[in-house]
Amino acid sequence: MPILSPRIRNIVTGTDDGWGVQEKAREMAGAGRDIIMLTMGDHDFPTAEPIRTACADALAAGRTSYGSIHGMAPLREIIAERGGPVHGIEIDPDHVVVAMGGQAALFAAACVALDPGDEAIVIEPYYATYEQTIRAAGGVPVTVQTSADNGFQPDAATLRAAITPRTRMILCNSPNNPSGAVYTRATLEGIAALCQEHDLWLVSDEVYHSQVYEGVHLSPASLPGMRERTLIVDSMSKSHAMTGWRSGWLICPDMLTADCVIDLFLTSASGLAPFIQLAMRAALATGKGPEHEISERYRYRRDRAVEALARSKRLKIHPPEAAMYVLIDLRHFVSDAEAFAYALLEATGVAVMPGDSFGDSAAGHIRISLTAPEEKLVKACTHIAEFAENWSDT
Ligand code: PMP
Repeated sequence: MPILSPRIRNIVTGTDDGWGVQEKAREMAGAGRDIIMLTMGDHDFPTAEPIRTACADALAAGRTSYGSIHGMAPLREIIAERGGPVHGIEIDPDHVVVAMGGQAALFAAACVALDPGDEAIVIEPYYATYEQTIRAAGGVPVTVQTSADNGFQPDAATLRAAITPRTRMILCNSPNNPSGAVYTRATLEGIAALCQEHDLWLVSDEVYHSQVYEGVHLSPASLPGMRERTLIVDSMSKSHAMTGWRSGWLICPDMLTADCVIDLFLTSASGLAPFIQLAMRAALATGKGPEHEISERYRYRRDRAVEALARSKRLKIHPPEAAMYVLIDLRHFVSDAEAFAYALLEATGVAVMPGDSFGDSAAGHIRISLTAPEEKLVKACTHIAEFAENWSDT
């Protein structure tokens, strides 16, 4: 038997990373049980009709050949035009590389920043694929904790302590999944200073920039001296409810970096389908309306969910400033949040993510996604509150 690459075998390590609750919920739903799924960050509504029509029109017109690996110029132009004000920088369309979702952009960013054995600092709590993405690129993830008591804002001194001679990049995500934190200017300036002092790349995952309810989104790329070392990950999965389309991109600081990413994609996806690229372009060409509508929907759901969860004084909630999740702190009355999540599912049919899936900083928490229609969501949150009131660790 030839050897399976240890690097690839070790991409996903350890246990089920918290997805076990979702698997169990699917099984239960398959067996006929009424389940409310608040696990994945996937919308409960489809992509808007005009975007689907743009795709159908492109298919009808026979746009089915290979797509540009770089991304078709009119799409990159509109990404650059729209991205300028969002990220607070001038963007050359040639520095944008279209990717199969934010996930492929993250992987590409890790590949251009890391050589085998290089360390990447990953700020907790983090999106569940971050560590795996670093490992897939050959790097070593080094996680840095933040504290719920400090609104999950990373602290420069803690970050500094994690830097070694092998550190090549910091991966940060604001607005943050799962905490809903929007990093402050001071936080980002702290990160920026470290990147400059230690000559590090900053990979800035900004896929939730359109869903900010409190505060303002600030891209670290706009801070002095950061443009040339920041790789911005963006995607239409969340902003335009396009998760299944795999519609993302990486904004590179210069042409040399962009060319490296194009070379990498030459060896993998080889470009997004033209009918997808045309639909992305059509969606972005309609302006901010569609993303605003989606963001307002999640703002409304956030408020309703927080209200319903507040029925239990035991649930400590950090009302999210952004994104489509609520992280609930159970630490003072639950010893094992995963056990709580399984028991909640069994008793009420509500499926949530155990916080440990997002790093140790979120241990003792559960995360709910606001991805159910309002009435169902409120029902689920009411169940969570009642279940918490009756919970006993023994
Ligand atoms: N970054 C974060 C923080 C996310 O939450 C997600 C998706 N849940 C992604 C990246 C990946 O985005 P995409 O679906 O566009 O691959």
